[in-house]
Amino acid sequence: MNTRQQCKRIYSWVGRAKSSDQQLKTFQYRGISIKSERSLTEMCIQLGEFVLVEGENADQPFVAKLLKLYEDGSQEKHAVVQWFSRITELPLNKRKLLQREVSPQEIFLDKAPGYDTDINVETIIKNVKVIPLAPKEAVPVRSNGKQIFFVKESWDGKCFKPLSPGSLSELKEAEKNKRVGSPSPLTDCQTSDFTCSLKAETDRVTRSTVKTKNVQMEIESRHSASKSSLSKERHSQRVANGINTPGARKKLQLNSPTKSRNKLTGCDVLELLGDDCDALESLEPSATKRKVTFTEILDSPPKISRTNGESDSPLTIRGDWSKLAETVRIAPYRRSQASSLKAKNLDGKDDDTCLAEEQELKTRSPVVIPRSHRKCVQKTTARIAEQLHFLNISEQDREDDYLPSTDCSDSSSNEEEESMVPCTPKRKMRSSTTLSTPKSLRKPSDITPAKTPRKTPEPRTPKTPRNATPRIPIRNQATEKPANVLEEARLRLHVSTIPGSLPCREEEFQDIYNFVESKLIDGTGGCMYISGVPGTGKTATVHEVIRCLQQTAENDGLPSFQFIEINGMKLTDPHQAYVQILQLLTGQKVTATHAAELLAKLFSTPGPKRKTTVLIVDELDLLWTRKQDVMYNLFDWPTQKQAKLIILAIANTMDLPERIMMNRVASRLGLTRMSFQPYTYKQLQQIISSRLNHIKAFEEDAIQLVSRKVAALSGDARRCLDICRRSTEICEFSSQKSASGLVSMAHVMKAIDEMFSSPYINSIRNASLHEQMFLKAIIAEFRRSGLEEATVQQIYHQHVALCRIEGLQIPTVSEIMAICSRLGACRFLLVESNNKYLHVRVRLNISQDDVMYALKQE
Ligand code: ATP
Ligand code: MG
Repeated sequence: MNTRQQCKRIYSWVGRAKSSDQQLKTFQYRGISIKSERSLTEMCIQLGEFVLVEGENADQPFVAKLLKLYEDGSQEKHAVVQWFSRITELPLNKRKLLQREVSPQEIFLDKAPGYDTDINVETIIKNVKVIPLAPKEAVPVRSNGKQIFFVKESWDGKCFKPLSPGSLSELKEAEKNKRVGSPSPLTDCQTSDFTCSLKAETDRVTRSTVKTKNVQMEIESRHSASKSSLSKERHSQRVANGINTPGARKKLQLNSPTKSRNKLTGCDVLELLGDDCDALESLEPSATKRKVTFTEILDSPPKISRTNGESDSPLTIRGDWSKLAETVRIAPYRRSQASSLKAKNLDGKDDDTCLAEEQELKTRSPVVIPRSHRKCVQKTTARIAEQLHFLNISEQDREDDYLPSTDCSDSSSNEEEESMVPCTPKRKMRSSTTLSTPKSLRKPSDITPAKTPRKTPEPRTPKTPRNATPRIPIRNQATEKPANVLEEARLRLHVSTIPGSLPCREEEFQDIYNFVESKLIDGTGGCMYISGVPGTGKTATVHEVIRCLQQTAENDGLPSFQFIEINGMKLTDPHQAYVQILQLLTGQKVTATHAAELLAKLFSTPGPKRKTTVLIVDELDLLWTRKQDVMYNLFDWPTQKQAKLIILAIANTMDLPERIMMNRVASRLGLTRMSFQPYTYKQLQQIISSRLNHIKAFEEDAIQLVSRKVAALSGDARRCLDICRRSTEICEFSSQKSASGLVSMAHVMKAIDEMFSSPYINSIRNASLHEQMFLKAIIAEFRRSGLEEATVQQIYHQHVALCRIEGLQIPTVSEIMAICSRLGACRFLLVESNNKYLHVRVRLNISQDDVMYALKQE
């Protein structure tokens, strides 16, 4: 018997081992029993049944069919499964191949290669119902059947196909067997408790529904929904290691009555509700459904035994629940009753049912202030109206994007929330067909504001735009073509233009490509540390590698992978890296600490259907923290086998890994390193020529001058391109045009002067001889060590050497310390603030280029 974390679920085999392999020490079984410690229920799952398997997203567990159950030599319980995928799990670009609307309950027999079909039994959550359909059969609409799935097509990684007659009959057989054999024929399962709780659920559902067309269906869905809630909870336990996920539980806590006013806290209520609270969330995430279902439950609390010994009478519980109901009803998610009922109606219930429920709701609900009547809402609406009115005057075009059309304004105040969003035909269709879509999942892009001609010219009170995305109006005119050669050259030389090719980086490209490719093929992970001074093409090369890999994966030349990217420069705090990575991976948005825990769990637990993730961490230097935890984790995650994570870390500093970890640890991580050398003048020349792509805008000498100047300073392609671009501007607008009309050396010189005429450069030029020498010594030391930081002692050695070469008097140590302090005070240097004297560490606070340029001119 294997006990799960915190003893919530216990997995045990059903019956004796069916067959065994003595050599491999494996034993096969025909069923598994999952016992819930808290709710004291047990369910048995047999081979051939469909199950939900924990995935990265707790709301969307994977669906699979159990093919084999076995225990290996190390007594770990395994299951071999056939995967089924929801449409949301399939590649975005392939979904359109279906050319039809897909119900959220429809799944596809997933025959795409590359998935791990051998899973840990403990990732199985529960069994579910999967109904096979003939190719032409429509997927029935089951408003409450989130846990019933339908399958009629298969997906092979390239295209969708109707289920073959063989597969169809096999699935039908499995489905029939399940129906005939239910309850589970496995005699050694103690199903009495389970059946009992199921019965309680049944009673409740039967009572709360006025006209139930198919009671059995309701029972089943409720049963499955309550179990699915466990999945969520279990997932959060597994992933967050005991920390609550911001799901149902968190929302409830926020809205829960306080202890002083009520006997039960949100947690207590949750405890009492057990599975059901979460079930409500997972069953129907829409606000409408949530509210109505809560009301149902509140009226008839389930009989769940309390394990902690507290003995609240049912009456007290009932009272407290109705208080909770109040809280829930006035939660901001709330939709109007009418619209909720309308929604239900659309879900397939008949009018009588809806009317009856409406009556019931009216009698039950306490008086609630409608959102539109709340003072704060009115104030906000008025303020937004004012601002929008102002915008209306200035920008007629944009106004239409946000204002609801006249159709919308006709809608009753009860449907305020509906009409607050921009009203478009698409939107209307969505609200009538996909009411159960959780709000959080709605993409802003789904809401396309329509350009509805306004019938009434007088200003109306605009409604609060919800989920509206500010957008730039669509360009009516095509962009003008460049008028002359210089303009075209300027466009091509802009650093933001993506070049057609990256000359001089072929080797680096190949090395990075091979690294990622090999990891993708092996299905393993790893980290490559890419360093180099600014403008040496690190980011450009890595992006090109990813583009090529994605193209190859698309053409089935490589296993497909998930690509995400973060940039240290774009993060407000290094710890936000966790938040961004988690959000890009799973869509979850949580705090940094929580995200770090979730990621650590995610990368240390095997994900059955996990694809390899390629993560680019650009500007890694900026993720430096006192504890070095962010960088350490980034280097550590890929070493875990289950993570399937490939990290391409880009930084300017060469020895970051050594600084973060002791050398020994760094070598254990097995980092692959790559260093991008500064471009030589020939390479820079080649880069400019390739960018210009045979456009004759520069004289040959001019290109050579820029390349030589930049190569002598830093070898930074970005700076080189900037100087070239500025040269074209100077040439175009200067009165002294060269004879050829092209950019000449004079223009280039002028651009270089402009670029380097910063106050810093002037002050360096006006600094004392020894101060200039000290700056030179810093650069010499940086070049010698390959680092961008040095101690005063190291710089002093360089300084002494330079003085000897120049025949200058050698300063004393205290004079050197004084020079260092003065340069620090001028902010040329960043000097460590401690009293280590000669061991104080120093960095340049201005670019090496600027220092070099200023001193060279001298
Ligand atoms: P940083 O360390 O500052 O991030 P980087 O090494 O990432 O710099 P990139 O952003 O890749 O530099 O390149 C800077 C600019 O130079 C980009 O506009 C890029 O297109 C251009 N560039 C760099 N190398 C090449 C090349 N080999 N061919 C063409 N353009 C290049
Ligand atoms: Mg970069």
